[in-house]
Amino acid sequence: MNGPTSPEEFQKQMQDFLQKQFKGFETNGFTGSQPSGTEEEVLKTSQKDEFDFSYRPRDIKSHLDRYVIKQDEAKKVLSVALCDHYNAVREAFKGNEQSQYTKQNVMLMGPTGVGKTYLIRSIAELIGVPFVKADATKFSETGYVGGDVEDLVRDLVRQADGDVERAQYGIVYIDEIDKIASSSEQQGGRDVSGQGVQTTLLKLMEETEVPARAPHDMAGQIQSMMEGSGKNKKGSTINTRHILFVVSGAFAQLDKIVQRRLKESSIGFASSKQEDIEQDQILEHAKTPDFIKYGFEPEFIGRLPVRVVCHSLSINDLEQILKTSEGSIIRQYKQSFAAYGIKSHFEDTGLRRIAELAIEEETGARGLMTVCEKIFRDLKFEFPSSRVKEFSVNAELVNNPRDTMETLLANAPEQDDEAVDSTLKEFAALFSSQHSLNIEFTNDARKELTRMAKASSLTVADFCRDHFRDLHFGLKLISGNTGQTNFKLDKSFAENPDTALSQQVVASYKEKDGND
Ligand code: ADP
Repeated sequence: MNGPTSPEEFQKQMQDFLQKQFKGFETNGFTGSQPSGTEEEVLKTSQKDEFDFSYRPRDIKSHLDRYVIKQDEAKKVLSVALCDHYNAVREAFKGNEQSQYTKQNVMLMGPTGVGKTYLIRSIAELIGVPFVKADATKFSETGYVGGDVEDLVRDLVRQADGDVERAQYGIVYIDEIDKIASSSEQQGGRDVSGQGVQTTLLKLMEETEVPARAPHDMAGQIQSMMEGSGKNKKGSTINTRHILFVVSGAFAQLDKIVQRRLKESSIGFASSKQEDIEQDQILEHAKTPDFIKYGFEPEFIGRLPVRVVCHSLSINDLEQILKTSEGSIIRQYKQSFAAYGIKSHFEDTGLRRIAELAIEEETGARGLMTVCEKIFRDLKFEFPSSRVKEFSVNAELVNNPRDTMETLLANAPEQDDEAVDSTLKEFAALFSSQHSLNIEFTNDARKELTRMAKASSLTVADFCRDHFRDLHFGLKLISGNTGQTNFKLDKSFAENPDTALSQQVVASYKEKDGND
């Protein structure tokens, strides 16, 4: 009686509990009986079984060219590898599994922010397969390596909206893979946890069954019991056989290992030849023994047959990203200003200067985001409520955003009288509909408001919103006292709404008392 509850007992207890909670549970419950609508479910699953893939490497490369600047070699190699992989997956889904097929798992090397993730994410989007990304350091820092790594596979199911079939041919991207190298040369001592992570990942990269519900996910466990245990039980495990693994890292110091080997094997070559090779290019010569020396298990590195180097980006490349990439952040900035009716013109001098500042960040194309965020921070706050409807992003603005912004605000063209008039009418109409009180400005009030709005550098609409923010409180009091619902607001209201209002409120109380 006092011993631990057996799984069967626990299941029975849960069943009793759920029966009490939900009437009719048993018919759909985890007693093993078939859930209703089973035929439909089976049909859905069999439809999902078809995996359509008809891209050729050149199609994939052209798609990547639209978004990713440079990295030409990587684009080619990845296009070929991914086509091979998904052709094999398609055939396997048709029942023509190629027994000799080696999965084209990918190792991407290169500094941060040069497009490694962007390449793979863009391909996943094009093909329409789920994609998840994580850092390898996450696994070595926690004690629960196996569970965390499996969570990554389960995340694919989430990305596939719960569709286990689709998750089974998704892409798992693991960054900072170089941090789990366990060589004494890199870490100053053998790093056991790194080795452990490699072993766990290796299992996933080969083929294993991952439970679709995490053991610590109580709600998921209950649901999977409720789904029954018969042959129609859906998605109980995820098979990793067709999941493509892409690992990446900067691989600092790997170039030294490669260079040493090259030097040793190049006795007789002129040594100056070696020195000419840049770090990026040295990594292209990396071979399996170099990775083993770096601290990878031979079996692990052996499962990553496709190795590609992504190169660092120059100022020209960054400029090109801003100008031509379909994913350029400049498009986002243009759109966010356009949402307020503001046209932004990005001039060549401005784009060049942004690229020059970004390179100093030493974070590749990520530097572009950091630099732009700083430049446009104040403008994005001020311009939407200002009369600025058009501006140019040139070197002057990039070098000195705040001063240039002040000048633009001060010199913003004034609205013509007709536009001001219609804005005031719109404000009055909106106020009337929001507060069920009609307001109208006298000619004098209109003139005064126009003058004040111009002096403030705000648009007339924004000026009025701010200037009359308490108007409805006062007018409601007056209306409550006198029954008045139409108000003509004169110059005194425009000049100082608070004073004018309080005078009228006092008068309205007097009127009310007189009537009582
Ligand atoms: P990492 O190489 O560290 O994986 P990412 O691919 O995540 O870097 O790049 C970060 C962002 O920088 C991308 O989302 C993209 O907007 C931009 N970016 C990076 N490299 C390129 C590139 N070669 N061409 C166009 N945009 C790029």
